[in-house]
Amino acid sequence: MRKSVSEVFRSNARKWAGRASLVFGALLTACATQPAAPPLEGDLLISHVRVVDFSGKAPDVREDVFVLVDEGAIIAVADTREGLIADAEQDASGLTMIPGLTDMHVHIWDEAELGAYLSWGVTRVRNMSGLPFHLTLAEQVEAGNVLGPHLVTTGPILNSAGPNAQVNHQLVETEEEARAAVAWQAEQGFTRLKVYSNLTREAYDAVRQEAEARNLIVTGHTPEGVRGPGVPFEAPFDIAFGEVLGDGFETIEHVESIVWHGLSDRQDEAAARALAKRIAAAEVPVTPTLLAYHNLWRVADTQGAALTRPGTEMLNPVVQQTERDYQEFWASQPPGPAAQSDAFYGRVTKIFQEEGVMLVAGTDAGIFTNVPGLSMVDELRLMVAGGLTPFEALKSATHAPSVVLDREGLDGCALERCAADLVLYACDPLADISCLHVPDAMIRDGEWLSREDLMALREAARHHNLERTQENVLGGLAAQGADVSVLGLEGATE
Ligand SMILES: [Zn+2]
Repeated sequence: MRKSVSEVFRSNARKWAGRASLVFGALLTACATQPAAPPLEGDLLISHVRVVDFSGKAPDVREDVFVLVDEGAIIAVADTREGLIADAEQDASGLTMIPGLTDMHVHIWDEAELGAYLSWGVTRVRNMSGLPFHLTLAEQVEAGNVLGPHLVTTGPILNSAGPNAQVNHQLVETEEEARAAVAWQAEQGFTRLKVYSNLTREAYDAVRQEAEARNLIVTGHTPEGVRGPGVPFEAPFDIAFGEVLGDGFETIEHVESIVWHGLSDRQDEAAARALAKRIAAAEVPVTPTLLAYHNLWRVADTQGAALTRPGTEMLNPVVQQTERDYQEFWASQPPGPAAQSDAFYGRVTKIFQEEGVMLVAGTDAGIFTNVPGLSMVDELRLMVAGGLTPFEALKSATHAPSVVLDREGLDGCALERCAADLVLYACDPLADISCLHVPDAMIRDGEWLSREDLMALREAARHHNLERTQENVLGGLAAQGADVSVLGLEGATE
């Protein structure tokens, strides 16, 4: 039977305590008659598998090993099967197994999308524009009632009026409004706040103070304050990028937003390196989301044809409808300047890596034309195209997110005690990152999912529930006080 996460942790803790005393007992009797160590029992044994972990400074590769999984966690990684007993066994000869991937920047609108993430090896996501339904959905995933990646979420995006304000933002201008919005989010159960580019200084300061008082995490775009005339080329930002760096963000998002705010949108590599040193010194992790901009270019480059490429049918049609104008805008843009920016953002990401900025992989999946799950594969390819090694890219999608989400050693790893959220490939992702396109199998919370299972999940993700999406989105936005009539979603059916 499935257990809740806390039950699993409790039972694992008991198991480990028991094992420690077994080891200790074995040491005491080692000089005596050597009684055989009792066998380790588990639910699933994966045999003859190549395991790669990314927790260290270099890949930790173990060839042809036996991995024993019990109650959703790895309990042994051994060179032989001796002393390992399991209810089931999967021969994984010729397969490489890595930790499940974490996408640190997604937008989920309905549970129908979740299977797409799993089908491309994504076992954990951080949703970056929360609505109350995400809190319920996250619980359902943990309880095993919905099959999907583990889900953490921010609250609704906190922003002020300005060029970057969007209809789904919780708009706050004054200190009072900001405090009230944070109080509302905390009351709903959100523990992570997402701040955005146009937040006024007054509202941002109040958000930070409330977050500190309520022990909430802050992440998002670095707020630049009210955008005055001449910004960014002739006039400075109202709130300087450097002012925000010390504010304890969980991560800061989007390399293009960092270039905008931190470099006044100048494509200057020397300045980018100086900025990277400051970000590294401040120890703020960065989610580059290279794909978010890359897909804008892609739509411009194909005059919009990329909007209907295979995979886009997994994007939520209700949300796609609200994005038509923006998509058409990019379809009509000249691709040249976007290509130049796209290449620069790849180089900046490489510079960040060189200067010791902690990078976490995120994709902006779920909006524009960023396909759930597939976007993670694309993002890691873009990182490698920008100059990161496959190891560095994979670390940003496994170990680094576990550190940022305060789960180091629990997931994003393929070692004893790590969660049994693992992906297997018939190719070697360290040799060729595009290998990630075709997962051969997955272990999700200790349960084996075959290639056929993953394809069935992907197929299911093509079938949307428009009514439920509208409830999720419109209901949530109405609760936060947004004017949902401007979305024009009432007639959205298919
Ligand atoms: Zn986003």
